[in-house]
Amino acid sequence: MKNIIIFGAPGSGKGTYSAKIVEKYGMGHISTGDVLRGEIKNGTELGKIAKGYIDNGQLIPDELMIDILAKTYDAQPAGKGVIFDGFPRTIAQAEALKKMLAERNTEMGIMVELDVDADILMKRLLNRAIEQGRADDNEETIKKRFEVYRTQTAPLIEWFEKEGIRHTFSAKQYPGIDDMINAISAVIDAENK
Ligand code: ATP
Ligand code: MG
Repeated sequence: MKNIIIFGAPGSGKGTYSAKIVEKYGMGHISTGDVLRGEIKNGTELGKIAKGYIDNGQLIPDELMIDILAKTYDAQPAGKGVIFDGFPRTIAQAEALKKMLAERNTEMGIMVELDVDADILMKRLLNRAIEQGRADDNEETIKKRFEVYRTQTAPLIEWFEKEGIRHTFSAKQYPGIDDMINAISAVIDAENK
C-alpha cells in the first residue's frame, strides 16, 4: 500500500476518514494530535510542553514535531503503508517527511485534501466541543487554529500540487461520509493498481 497524507483544516474530518480508511485497507495510522493528547494525558515532559501550544491553538515547534513523528513512524509495523493525519502542517515538516521516508525507501504516496467551507468547520468544532470536551475546541482557540491553518498550513496545498500527489475532495461535492469515502477509495485503489 502507498502511504497517504490526509490534509485539511481543523474539523475537516481527518480523524473520521482516517479511521474509515484504516478499517478498509488495514493500514497504519499516525495522528499527531492523538499522539500529543496521549502525552498530555500521561503527564510526560513532552506532554507538558505540548499542552502550552495546543491550548493556545498554536503549532508545536517543527524540530520537536519532526522528532516525534520519526519515532512514531519507526514504531509502526513495517510494510503496510501509513496514513499521516495532522502531519505535515508546515513546509518544513513536509520537507522533513519527504526526506525521512526516502531514507526508509518509501515515499509520501497520495495526498488527500479535504476541502470544507469555514462555516461548516466552525459548526462541527463547536459541536465536538460539547461531545468530546477537547480543551482546544472553544470559539476563541478555534479562531486561532483557523488562522494558523491559513498562514502556516494552507501553503502546503501548492507544495503538494508541485509534488504531483494532490487529490482534492470537496464536501460540497461529497456531502455524506459514505460518498466521501467512496470517492477517496476510488483514488486509493487506482493509485495502488
Ligand atoms: P481535526 O482532527 O478535526 O481535523 P485538528 O486538525 O485541529 O482537528 P489535531 O490534528 O488533533 O486537530 O491537532 C490538535 C493540535 O495539536 C494542533 O492545534 C496543534 O497544536 C497540535 N499539533 C498536531 N499536529 C501537529 C503538527 N504536525 N505540528 C505542530 N503541531 C501539531
Ligand atoms: Mg484529528
